[in-house]
Amino acid sequence: MPLFEYYCSDCKARFELLVSHKHADDVVCMKCHSEKVRRLLSVFASPRGAGEDYSFDGAADAEGGCGCGGGSCGCH
Ligand SMILES: [Zn+2]
Repeated sequence: MPLFEYYCSDCKARFELLVSHKHADDVVCMKCHSEKVRRLLSVFASPRGAGEDYSFDGAADAEGGCGCGGGSCGCH
């Protein structure tokens, strides 16, 4: 499920929520339960292959996946 970030215009809260696309627009504020929330750009909004984001994600995966920095742990 994608992680979405929401902003509540009633209490000015920002929160993140894992929600399926089907319910992405049915979210209420986690603090005040207002329906006046709007969805911000998702952390994972950019699909892989979208230019700069791709190379950044790739580097993060390679270095953050196992902590070995590449090659010595057998996970590559
Ligand atoms: Zn709120």
